[in-house]
Amino acid sequence: MKNKLRASLALHKKGFRLLKIVHEINRNMLPRTIMEALINAFIPYISIFLSAAVIDYLFEKAYKEAIVTVIVMCVATFAAQMIVAVLQYYNGICRNNLPMDLKGKIREKAMELDYATMDDPEIISMIHNTEKAAQYSGGLAQIMFRYRVLLQYFISAITAIGLTIQLCFSLPLNDDGILNRLAHPLITIVVLVLAWAIGRYVTRKQGEIVNQWENEIAEEHYKVEGGLGYWCYDVLYNISYGQLLRVGGLSDMVLKNTEKYVNANLPCFEKMGKSSRKSSVAEGIETGLFSVAAYFVVLVKVLAGAITIGAFTKFSGALLQLNQAFAKIAWSEASLNRMVENLMKLVDFLELENKMETGSIHIEKRLDNHYEIEFKDVGFCYPGSEEFVLRHVNAKITLKNKLAVVGKNGAGKSTFIKLLCRLYDPTEGVITLNGVDIRKYNYKEYLSLFGVVFQDFHLFNYSIAKNVAASNEYDEEKVIKCLEQAGILEFVNELPKGIDTIIEKTEEDSINLSGGQAQKVSIARALYKDAPFVILDEPTAALDPISEAEIYERFDEMVEDKTSVYISHRMSSCRFCDEILVFDKGQICERGNHEELLALNGLYQSLWTAQAKYYA
Ligand code: ADP
Repeated sequence: MKNKLRASLALHKKGFRLLKIVHEINRNMLPRTIMEALINAFIPYISIFLSAAVIDYLFEKAYKEAIVTVIVMCVATFAAQMIVAVLQYYNGICRNNLPMDLKGKIREKAMELDYATMDDPEIISMIHNTEKAAQYSGGLAQIMFRYRVLLQYFISAITAIGLTIQLCFSLPLNDDGILNRLAHPLITIVVLVLAWAIGRYVTRKQGEIVNQWENEIAEEHYKVEGGLGYWCYDVLYNISYGQLLRVGGLSDMVLKNTEKYVNANLPCFEKMGKSSRKSSVAEGIETGLFSVAAYFVVLVKVLAGAITIGAFTKFSGALLQLNQAFAKIAWSEASLNRMVENLMKLVDFLELENKMETGSIHIEKRLDNHYEIEFKDVGFCYPGSEEFVLRHVNAKITLKNKLAVVGKNGAGKSTFIKLLCRLYDPTEGVITLNGVDIRKYNYKEYLSLFGVVFQDFHLFNYSIAKNVAASNEYDEEKVIKCLEQAGILEFVNELPKGIDTIIEKTEEDSINLSGGQAQKVSIARALYKDAPFVILDEPTAALDPISEAEIYERFDEMVEDKTSVYISHRMSSCRFCDEILVFDKGQICERGNHEELLALNGLYQSLWTAQAKYYA
C-alpha cells in the first residue's frame, strides 16, 4: 500500500512536469480543463440531490415545490452541460493544435541547443524517440484527457464518500426487526466493502493480463511503426534514394519490407481487440456486483425507516458514482503510468541543459573591425572521446590578416575552425578575443563576428534570396550585391524568377544548383552577414579546378577589408596568404608565408610539390 502510494506520487510528479509543458504551449488549456473536470464532476450530483427532493415532495403532496425543484434541476443541468460544451469546444481546438505546437517546441529547443550538445547521437535519437513516443501514446492531449478524468472522478469520489458515510450512519428510528438489524452501519459497510473487493479482484486480475499484453503490443507496435516509418518516409518517399530504387532494382526489396512490417502489425490489432473485449466483461461483473449490493443496502435503509423514500435515489446514485469513480481513477492511473513513462523522453529533452555557458560581456561594435583572436595552448577532444584531436595550438588571427590553414586530411583543420567559431569549447588552454576569454562574451554576439562557408555548407529549399539573407526578410539590393561579389549574379539573373528562384527542384522554375554554383551562393550568404571575420572551409569535392581558381581569386577580393581564414586542401589557393598554418596530427608543425614555408623543406614543401604538378 505504502509502495503503491509512493509509486503513484512519483507518477504524478512526472505527470505534472508534462502538464507544465502543455501549460507553456497553451496558457488556457489547463485552467479550462480543470473547470471542465469540476463541472463534469458535479453534473450527476445535481440530479442525485434534487431528484431525491422531488420524490420526497411528491410523497408529501407538495406539488408546487416539486415543480420548482424539477425546473431548478433542468436549468442547472442544462447550464452546466452548456458550459462544458463551450469548454470542450475550445479545448478541442487546442487539442488539435497540440501535436503541431509540440513539434514546434521540439524544433525551437533543438535550435536553442548549442552545437556541442546536439553533436551527440544520443540526443538525435532522443528527438526521434520523443516524437515517436508522443505519436504512439496519443501525446500530450491524451495526458490532459486522463488527468481531466482523474480530477473529475477524484472530486466525484470525495462527494460520494461523504454521502456514503451519511448513508452508513443513518440509523432506523426504532430498533426492532430483522430489517433494522440489517440497516446497522457495520452491516452496510461490510456488504459494500465485500462487493467492491470482489469486483476489484476480478478487474485487477484481468487488468494485469491486459497490461502485460499492452506492454508487449506497445513494444511490437513501436518496433513496427519505426520500421514502417523508416521504409516509407526515409527510403520510399525520399527522392535521394529515387535513382537507386528504380535503376538499382531495389524497389521490390523495399516494398516487400514495408509489407512485412504491415503484416507484423496485424497480430497487434487482434490482441488489442481481444484484450478490450475481455476487459469489458470484467468491468461488467464489477459494476453489476456493486450495483446489486448498493441497491440492497439503500433499500434496507429505506425499509427500516433510516432514510426517506426520496433518499433512495440519492444514496443509490451516490454509491454507483463512487464505484464508477474508483474504476475511472484506477483506469486513469494505469494508463497514465505507461503514457507518462513514454513521454518522459520528451520532458528530458525539453529540460536538457546546454553544455556551453554563455558569458555576459557584450562585444564592442568596432567600425575599424579591430578584433584579434588568439589560441593559447589549445587542446581539444570531441565530446565522448578522450583522444586529443588538437594539442598545444598557438595562433593569432590579427586584423585584416589572411590566414590559411593547410594539412593532410584528419590533421585537425576543421576542428580548429569549429573552436574558432565556438561550436565547441577547448578541452585545454584558452581562446581569447581582444585579450578576453571568448567564453566570457555573450555567445550570440560572439557568433555574429563570423561569416562562414563550411565544408559541408547547406542550402535550403527556399528562394536564393532567402538563402543568401538566411532570413525571410531581406534587403534585395544587398542580396544582389553579395551575389555579384560571389560571382553568381549573372547566372541568377538569367533564371526566370531571378533571386526568387527556389533552390532544389520541387516546383516549376525551381532549380538544382551545381556544386560550384551552390558554393558561390553560400559565399554570398557569408558576405551578406557583413561580419569582421570571413571563414571559408574549402570543400574538397564540389569544385572543378577552373571554378575553384575563380572562386579563390574572388574570395581574396571579397574579403579585402576583413580578416579571413581559409582552410585549403589545394595548396595553390593559399599561396598569397599573409600567414599559413600547417597542421599535422592536431598540432601546428610549421608556420610562415609561402616562400618561408617552401624554404623549410618540410611538410608544406612536400604537400606543395605533390600538388604542384596539377597546377603547372
Ligand atoms: P581536417 O579538417 O584536417 O580534415 P578534422 O578537424 O575534420 O580534420 O578532424 C580531425 C580529427 O577529428 C579526425 O581524426 C576526425 O576523425 C576527428 N573528428 C572530426 N569530427 C569529429 C566528431 N564530430 N567527433 C569525433 N571525432 C571527430
